Amino acid sequence: MPLSRSAELLKTLIAFPTISRTPNLALIEHVAGLLAAAGIRSTIVRNDTGTCANLFASTGPADVPGVMLSGHTDVVPVEGQPWTMPPFEATLRDERLYGRGAADMKGFVACAVIAMIDASARTLKKPLQLALSYDEEIGCVGVRRLIDVLEVAPVRPELCVVGEPTMMQIATGHKGKAAYRAICCGQEGHSALAPNYLNAIHVAADWIAGIRAAQQHLAENGAHDDGYDVPYSTIHVGTIHGGKALNIVPNECTLEFEIRTLTSDKADAILDDIRSRASIASATGLQGKVHLPAVEEVNAYPGLDTHVASDAVKFLEALLPPETQTRKVAFGTEGGLFSTRLSVPAVVCGPGDIDVAHKPDEYVALAQLDACDSFLARLTSCLQ
Ligand SMILES: [Zn+2]
Repeated sequence: MPLSRSAELLKTLIAFPTISRTPNLALIEHVAGLLAAAGIRSTIVRNDTGTCANLFASTGPADVPGVMLSGHTDVVPVEGQPWTMPPFEATLRDERLYGRGAADMKGFVACAVIAMIDASARTLKKPLQLALSYDEEIGCVGVRRLIDVLEVAPVRPELCVVGEPTMMQIATGHKGKAAYRAICCGQEGHSALAPNYLNAIHVAADWIAGIRAAQQHLAENGAHDDGYDVPYSTIHVGTIHGGKALNIVPNECTLEFEIRTLTSDKADAILDDIRSRASIASATGLQGKVHLPAVEEVNAYPGLDTHVASDAVKFLEALLPPETQTRKVAFGTEGGLFSTRLSVPAVVCGPGDIDVAHKPDEYVALAQLDACDSFLARLTSCLQ
């Protein structure tokens, strides 16, 4: 059987090696060309160096709110992963398309581009729109420039569908995330005289003690949302670097940590709590004085919490099969930024399984692409 147009386009998109932090312009220009052939004009919003770009396109009337389909075009790296198939050349096997980004999330991008082209041939009462971004995987970096443009547009969408892989289930929420670097400073000295110097690794240890105490407090007394596997906000240290040799008191130690918040919690408040708990640990441990690291925010994006009884969710539920579940997801998306900065209700729904994303031999089932095509065709009919 011949492949669907979405599956054919996905094969083409997989062949663009659009790893985060590397150019995606060739892919964006290819999509813009396909849209232009259907009479749809694209707005391209580039990064400072012009190597990466967002794309926004709309078909239908320009003066009324419509539905925006949102996807990122970057993919995670493949280095060090035991791929058994070429990651940037689609392989069709057992009714699945394999390749980096097949699930996360070029499958949805392909379906959305085809839906736009099909919609351009119809007379719509409300527009169907497409928002493609770059560098999502490194903290929703690229889409912020596109949101700057959409923020001042005369009309905003009334609904945003973020097509991250949910196996075509509806996800209405995810946690927000803030990533930080903590730089702990000390004084170098001979380890035989260790108590005379400030040990930067000990400063880091006190900070980590603060993090663990704050985490325990959140787990026991913080806000809870049973829609999540871990129902409270979480804090985690990911890396730590410090020390030159065992016989030198270290003068610097750097650690990276993240706070993932329920939308009812604020990362700043949790950071303050960590600081006060670390102060207690520090005061009792190091020369009777409080020594805290300098903390800088590396990246942050807001959580998503669209109400399950909202018109947006009901509208999408009516377009999907009756067995479709509405739930929350563990991973972050650009939906939090769309809903926070544009006040547009956002819902996550897309083809493929998050369990195969970011892994070797990532794939999407052809049946998932077909289900997404059907969903987008029904959605477009509602705009007529
Ligand atoms: Zn993704």
